[in-house]
Amino acid sequence: MDGFAISRVVQLLSILLACVDIGHSAPLLRRTPTGHDVQVLILGGGVSGIIAARSLHQKGIQNFLIVEAREELGGRMRSFTFGAPGRQVTLEIGCNWIQGTQLDDGPINPIFDLARKHNLSATPTDGHESMTTFDDGGSVDYLDIFYKAGDAYINGTIAAGARVNKTLVDTTARTGSSLVGWKPMTPHEMASEYYHFDWEYAQTPEQSSWIASSWGNNYTYEVTQGGFSDSNLMSIDQRGFKHIIQAEAAEFLTDEQVMLNATVKSIKYSKIGASVTLVDGTTMTADYVISTFSLGVLQQDDVVFEPALPEWKVEAIQSMTMGTYTKIFLQFPEKFWFDTQFALYADKERGRYPIWQGMDLEGFFPGSGVIFVTVTGDYSERIEALEDDQVQDEVMGVLRSMYPNVTIPDPVAFHFNRWHTDPLYRGSYSNWPPSLFVDHHTNLRATVEERLWFTGEATSQKYFGFLHGAYYEGEATGDTVAKCIQDQGCAGRPHVEEIKNARPYGLKP
Ligand SMILES: Cc1cc2nc3c(=O)[nH]c(=O)nc-3n(C[C@H](O)[C@H](O)[C@H](O)COP(=O)(O)OP(=O)(O)OC[C@H]3O[C@@H](n4cnc5c(N)ncnc54)[C@H](O)[C@@H]3O)c2cc1C
Repeated sequence: MDGFAISRVVQLLSILLACVDIGHSAPLLRRTPTGHDVQVLILGGGVSGIIAARSLHQKGIQNFLIVEAREELGGRMRSFTFGAPGRQVTLEIGCNWIQGTQLDDGPINPIFDLARKHNLSATPTDGHESMTTFDDGGSVDYLDIFYKAGDAYINGTIAAGARVNKTLVDTTARTGSSLVGWKPMTPHEMASEYYHFDWEYAQTPEQSSWIASSWGNNYTYEVTQGGFSDSNLMSIDQRGFKHIIQAEAAEFLTDEQVMLNATVKSIKYSKIGASVTLVDGTTMTADYVISTFSLGVLQQDDVVFEPALPEWKVEAIQSMTMGTYTKIFLQFPEKFWFDTQFALYADKERGRYPIWQGMDLEGFFPGSGVIFVTVTGDYSERIEALEDDQVQDEVMGVLRSMYPNVTIPDPVAFHFNRWHTDPLYRGSYSNWPPSLFVDHHTNLRATVEERLWFTGEATSQKYFGFLHGAYYEGEATGDTVAKCIQDQGCAGRPHVEEIKNARPYGLKP
């Protein structure tokens, strides 16, 4: 055997061993009094699924099984190793920040609590304190506009709150910002607005609810409105941000309670229970099923429901939207860029490679040569359809226009993740569009036939999109399902059969 063939055999053997090691082991099937394989099947092993499992465990229910398609727990808490050999760092392609932490002894973000418990390494970031501004002519100071855009955003959230008190209808966040006098036209204004809006919601103000985006901000960041704090902590932990949820899971989960590398294909449900079939043909039955699949997965029919979900549920699923947030990482032989944490690039096209973060900085990864740029929404979907080389060329074009007097070499490493096309996610996190009624959201969360439960970041009315939304929803769902089991049945979460307009449309025949 030549050297190449030997290394192929070694490679195949190690893949085989890895499969044996992490392949889905036979679950511990302890039939329930109703004759099902397990009491609860939790579909998806992200934050919501793990915390739902913890709630069941804490309520004395151990007969559950987490079914996860990937080879590890964590879901959208997902890290990867990036960089040329010898200069590698662990970075986050998914969530990166604890958003809103705690002020004094006020309410604490549960993700911050987990981070402290499991000793996460994290650094505070703040674009208002540490920002350099650019446009396609190079470095240019428009921080005054940047701060004005921040003020306009806050004024918009205050005006939205006043609308809630008067029960006025929702509109787009674009209408809202116009009503408070903010009408961005120039590249500098558009980029400044992008930082305060799209970078958070992963969609544009035109695509977003004015009222829900405002409460989304307030419940997380605004302490006067019950929020945690206005600080953001970015994970730089070399075990990955996912470490905090994996370490939490390791405290209570047994091997028999987790099935990895197991992709769900279909879910059959009725008033007395449910059965779940995997792509490999395995079928398992349960008294209750908790789906934690992302909104995008539900929207794209990646998992088939039998019978088809009722119309009120489908309307809710299709009415909420899934945004995409894409970090594009580059590594260079050495740093040649800004010394602030952030840079804002204003292109004539809104949303074109606007927010840059240098990682080769004290408190992050000094000496790493790593920088990354974030795009969102439709722009993310656009670049996912391109080849990596094409995206790299575009990104390098922008970087070279930001530094017209520097000879910038090609990067030694380049990577971005395609969240929108990934069948396990179909986007990054949910966003509330202006056409979505609160009743729609109630229906997104509602149970079907009392046996099929839905949870995850998207079902959180206050914290949709955030890690802490996924956490609270998992906790609440686990608690309620435990109660249903202990009371030997329950009515589930109610839904609204038909969502009606508050007033007739008023069209004349
Ligand atoms: C790029 C990006 C950046 C983000 N940044 C932040 C941030 O900085 N701060 C913040 O608070 N939040 C952020 N978020 C959002 C946060 O990551 C999510 O809100 C949270 O992780 C969602 O958890 P979940 O349990 O609801 O869903 P998930 O983590 O998606 O868990 C669902 C699980 O279901 C599995 N699954 C899917 N389909 C199947 C199938 N057919 N069979 C079996 N298993 C399946 C998936 O693999 C996944 O593990 C970000 C997300 C992304 C993608």
